[in-house]
This record gives sequence, C-alpha cells and structure tokens, in this order.
Amino acid sequence: MTTILDGKNVANQLTTKLQEKVKELNLKNIIPTLYVIEVGEDPASRIYLKAKENLAKRIGIKEVTLKFSENISQKELIDKIIELNRDPKVNGIMVQLPLPKHIDTEKIVATIAPEKDADGFHPYNQGRMWQSKTQIIPATVRGILALLDYYQLDVSGKDAVIIGRSLIVGKPLASQFLRRDATVTIAHSKTKNLADLTNRADIVVSDVGQAHLLKRDMIKENAVLIDVGMNRKNGHLMGDIDYQECFDKASAITPVPGGVGPLTVVSLMQQVLILAENQING
Ligand code: NAP
Repeated sequence: MTTILDGKNVANQLTTKLQEKVKELNLKNIIPTLYVIEVGEDPASRIYLKAKENLAKRIGIKEVTLKFSENISQKELIDKIIELNRDPKVNGIMVQLPLPKHIDTEKIVATIAPEKDADGFHPYNQGRMWQSKTQIIPATVRGILALLDYYQLDVSGKDAVIIGRSLIVGKPLASQFLRRDATVTIAHSKTKNLADLTNRADIVVSDVGQAHLLKRDMIKENAVLIDVGMNRKNGHLMGDIDYQECFDKASAITPVPGGVGPLTVVSLMQQVLILAENQING
C-alpha cells in the first residue's frame, strides 16, 4: 500500500511543538523575534510573507516585516541589516527574494550575521552544512527531513536522486542526505537520460518546476517520491511528479499541494527558535 506523506499533518504537529518551545523561552523572558526584509511589491512574495506572518503569530514568534521601496540603494539595505545584526533582541533575519536587479543578492545575503541567518542561505552556513557542522539549513530541506523522519523513512544506504541543483533545495538536500549515509546523485537540465537515473533510485526528490516531469515509467517499484515542485497549470497547483500515474507504483509519495509546501514555512519558524536558543547558549 502506498503511504501518502501528509505534510499538512506533520506541519500541524510541529506547530504545536513549537508553540510549547516558545512558552519555555517566554518563561526565560525571551520573545523569539524574526525580522523579514521586503523590497518592492512582488505579489507572489506577498502571499508567502503573509503565510509566514500568520504562522509566526500562531506560534508566538514576534515577526516584524520591514518594507522598503524598490528604489532603496544597496548601501541603505546593508546598513539596515548591520543594524539588525547588532540588535540583541533580533534572533533571526531573512530577506525575501527576489530582490530588484540593481541590488547584489549575494552581497545582501552575506551581510546577514550567520548566527541570525533564518533562511540558511549565508555562505558560511552553506559551507558548514557540507562539513555536517551546523544545524542551520534551508527551510525546505528541513521540511523534507522532518517528513522523512515522521514516516520513519531512513535514507541510509539508499540510492537517492535529487532533480534540481538550486542553492535553496537541491544542493543543501544532497549534503543532508550524505550526512544520513545515502548515495546521492544530483540531476539537472544538462543531465542525459534522466530516466536511467530515476529508474534505479530508491528515493527521488524533484525540485525543478516542470509539471509532471516524472512519469510512471521513470520510477522504480516501491520508490519514495518527494515532490518539491509547485506548478500552476489551468488554475491548478501541481507537482513535478505525475501523482496519479506514479501513486500505486511508489511506496510513499507527497501530494501537491499538501506535501512539502506546508512544512517549508513551519521549518523556517523552527529555525528561528534554534537561532534564539543558540544565541542564549552562546
Ligand atoms: P531553480 O532554482 O530554477 O532550479 C530548478 C532546477 O531544475 C535547476 O537546477 C535546473 O537545472 C533543473 N532542471 C530544469 N529543467 C530540468 C529538466 N528537464 N531535467 C532535470 N532538471 C531540470 O528552481 P527552484 O527555485 O529550486 O524551484 C523549483 C520548483 O520548486 C518550483 O516549482 C518552485 O515553486 C518549487 N519550490 C517549492 C518549495 C516548497 O516549499 N514546496 C520551495 C522551493 C521551491 P540547471 O541548474 O541546469 O538550470
């Protein structure tokens, strides 16, 4: 029987745990605080930010969104981040991407103090991740690991194929799968014969952004399928994996929506609490 990896349920359970954690911090007079920097008006980003604001409120995290006009200079933005880095009441900082073209995104991300890097995009944290020496990892990756843990899906010794090599999902996930002793292959747009790789994989994670890229004849019997893709087609949200086709061939599969998506925002909040605790413990 195929297990549906219900991200919504796992996210709800995690939310309850985080609410408890915030109460513990409050008893120590700590109010975990996340600052979000939003530049310009991007409707897609706004929807995501609203979800973050609502969840932070539910969990008890103080979330402050600083909105700047899209004409803000790079220097002004950097100065603001430095000010937040220095403020002991600020536990986590994140900059909503994409930024306007005149701003150097890499420079902005690198300005955030690594110990306040809520998104886990800072080059220091990305490097430490490959050394297996940090708890700070991108939220979607944390969410995928939480889902696998909840359903007790151990990747050790398994062949894992990750499709997509982005810095926010594919590459950091590869580091975490390696940390968990999987044998990892990363595929991308220049990969030849993707099906040859996925057909041998015990676990496939797709982070491409192409509706129904992965078909039934491309997966192995009893594979675990994790779909990060979110594609809008004919007014519907669908994943990279053809869910209907692959369902009964897989041993476990994430739906879209309701799989990885709900775990991303709650994992960001979890990371803010980890940052706050690290800061208290020095
Ligand atoms: P991205 O940075 O554009 O990365 C996409 C990756 O897919 C690239 O590495 C690209 O290869 C690879 N690719 C493109 N076409 C391919 C093909 N035909 N075969 C194999 N690989 C191919 O995208 P992203 O920001 O990671 O987002 C990808 C999708 O995930 C989007 O649908 C996005 O909405 C979704 N997403 C969801 C969540 C969530 O919380 N659920 C979080 C993040 C992203 P190259 O490197 O060679 O270009």
